[in-house]
Amino acid sequence: MAIPHYKHTVATRFMEYVQVDTQSDPNSETQPSTEKQKDLSRKLVLDLLAIGIKDAHLDEHGYVYATIPATVDKKVPVLCFCSHVDTAPDCSGTNVKPILHENYDGQDIVLPDDNTVIISTKDHPYLKERIGDDIITASGLTLLGADDKAGVAIIMDMATYLIQHPEVPHGDIRILFTPDEEIGRGVAAVDMQHLGADFGYTLDGGERGHLEGETFSADAAIVTFHGVSAHPGYAKGKMQSAIKAAADFVAMLPKDNWCPESTEGMEGFVHPTSISGLLEKATVQLIVRDFDTKKLSLYAQRLTEMANTIMAQYPGLTADVQIKEQYRNMKEVLDLHPHVMAYAEEAYLRAGLQPYRMSIRGGTDGSRLSFMGLPCPNIFTGEMGIHSKQEYVSVQDMEKATEICVHLAQIYAEKA
Ligand SMILES: [Zn+2]
Repeated sequence: MAIPHYKHTVATRFMEYVQVDTQSDPNSETQPSTEKQKDLSRKLVLDLLAIGIKDAHLDEHGYVYATIPATVDKKVPVLCFCSHVDTAPDCSGTNVKPILHENYDGQDIVLPDDNTVIISTKDHPYLKERIGDDIITASGLTLLGADDKAGVAIIMDMATYLIQHPEVPHGDIRILFTPDEEIGRGVAAVDMQHLGADFGYTLDGGERGHLEGETFSADAAIVTFHGVSAHPGYAKGKMQSAIKAAADFVAMLPKDNWCPESTEGMEGFVHPTSISGLLEKATVQLIVRDFDTKKLSLYAQRLTEMANTIMAQYPGLTADVQIKEQYRNMKEVLDLHPHVMAYAEEAYLRAGLQPYRMSIRGGTDGSRLSFMGLPCPNIFTGEMGIHSKQEYVSVQDMEKATEICVHLAQIYAEKA
């Protein structure tokens, strides 16, 4: 055991943090998107100061930075542990009432404030692996916010342990709590210079043992159709409807391949996320995803060919396809620094867990951080059923993740 006789603080911290409403808002232009996220961030600064971390502070963009000072003199790479304070806009995060189900017995969990909300072992088979653990759920009216307050609480628990145990050898450790991860803007205003870390780990994964070092590469595509307008009473031979062109374009998209509904594992897809328009101009927005970045340009080419086909059917109508880069597969960066994953695997093993390298069919704050110069895979937290009223987390999973973070800090010091 890396951390014998330690009374973990992770569960009590977690139960406090989830009660603070930190929902982010994709329709807001401010940074952070909602002021209320700072309610938790301010509390985290106070908690960090209370532990004895002197430089903890919240900046004007909503980021919390703090340093656990090195306990060794030799030069050790600066590690960053990162998690996000916001919760998903998909489900209410107001008045979250966390419930601790001690020594979980393997039965379906019926939530008291709405007994139609049932966390069943059929829908959540991972629960069966957690029999005997202490499980925390919400009460049926809201999400829980384990995504990612589990990560926040784990990092706070690690900080508590390391400050109480200066005999544990480690270099400088930077803590970063971000806002707005759920709306894809988590690292938009992070000050990398100020952060000053060499390698990072996000705490935002699910099942115990999972270690995520690969994400999608992601582009957005905007396909715009410019129609030819005319008075409908006198439009014969003149009018070309952008609305019909856009609808035909969407109808051309496959439904049994190359789409989220039909792909899994390492398969990529394109996915229309919005359609809007008038006679003169209609726009289809899509997301384009694959683990292999090279394939994104092939997908863009295929979309352009489809738009050209539509153009040929509507003489006088024009179409254009615009591609915007969103994020890239972190594996491209991590492969240049193989020790980042290898040390994490060693930390899992020292904590008695078999590590499983997983790929995320999505992105993380770490995808962007990796390309901003901070190679940053994702460690599990136990958060499950996320973005829903059925969200839950195992206390023992969170404690295990704390232990892994402590091991990681030690491993970097040993190998330096
Ligand atoms: Zn998350």
